[in-house]
Amino acid sequence: MQPVKYKRATSVAEAVSLLQGGGEFARPLAGGTDVIVQARERRRDIDLFVDIKHIPELMAISHDANGVTIGAAVPLHLVYGDAKIVSQWPAVTEAAHVIGGTAIQGRATLGGNLCNSSPAADSIPAMMVLDAVAHIAGPNGKRDVSVREFCTAPGRNVLALGEFVVSISLPKPPAGSGGAWQRFIPRNEMDIAVVNAGVWVQLDGANVTDARFALGAVAPTPIMVPAAAEALIGKPLSDATIAAAGDAAKAAAKPIDDMRGSVKQRKHLAKVLTERTLRHAIERARGQA
Ligand SMILES: Cc1cc2nc3c(=O)[nH]c(=O)nc-3n(C[C@H](O)[C@H](O)[C@H](O)COP(=O)(O)OP(=O)(O)OC[C@H]3O[C@@H](n4cnc5c(N)ncnc54)[C@H](O)[C@@H]3O)c2cc1C
Repeated sequence: MQPVKYKRATSVAEAVSLLQGGGEFARPLAGGTDVIVQARERRRDIDLFVDIKHIPELMAISHDANGVTIGAAVPLHLVYGDAKIVSQWPAVTEAAHVIGGTAIQGRATLGGNLCNSSPAADSIPAMMVLDAVAHIAGPNGKRDVSVREFCTAPGRNVLALGEFVVSISLPKPPAGSGGAWQRFIPRNEMDIAVVNAGVWVQLDGANVTDARFALGAVAPTPIMVPAAAEALIGKPLSDATIAAAGDAAKAAAKPIDDMRGSVKQRKHLAKVLTERTLRHAIERARGQA
């Protein structure tokens, strides 16, 4: 482990000032379940951790008429422990439930999962299809970035020096819509996704009026799959249109071979998981799940 200084911020302004003062080797510390491992293994040069878990705004979940705002440092167990989040945004709680195990979920956060910006991060495809927005604070004030636009390369994102994510908002889902998330791992738990998939659909009877698809672990960043949405929108639901969405996901997947899976397996999984997750989202949109 490299020597790392520790400072605790108690306000957003203090965190911005500490991060800015610390320069390029200062990093926010949320749950630490990624970044402490990276520091210990010297995969990242870090000389200052700025603990953001003592900033009230970052630890709050607030519901209002527009949706929910989840503080970036809220531990995952409180996210899936919130009955309103479970009922309205189950895709996110499905992902939160499988990140690590119980001990990890006591510390790890959605903000950390997003800002670590792994191509295989489990919560990101779920947040992407739900139109999540990251609220960012930094030396030049505040700005909002769609989670869809957040990751730019493996381990990289839009955050500039001194910036950090304060919270993530999920807009209230319209009536007749449903979202779901699934992943494939070769064992039952505690593994990194070979592929993961988020799906959201809006139905009008048997017709799909809107849809969003996202995949993880098939490209340098989690990706949206607009072609899968085009295969469904304006069409009646059927095995054929669901399969067409799966085919579009398979075509959009541009994975690599690595120790977790081959290109062929990942492309196959992109189709299978997209179709399964879509069927689950449809059941939810119909109020059946
Ligand atoms: C045993 C184990 C199992 C795991 N299993 C999974 C899994 O199944 N799925 C999965 O997706 N991940 C998994 N992970 C990885 C990790 O737990 C998650 O990515 C977790 O969500 C990270 O959250 P954290 O709060 O611990 O982030 P941290 O480690 O605190 O931070 C991660 C990165 O994001 C930055 N950061 C954190 N918060 C902010 C913020 N608000 N603004 C700006 N930058 C910020 C940090 O500086 C750091 O670079 C696992 C890790 C371990 C150790």
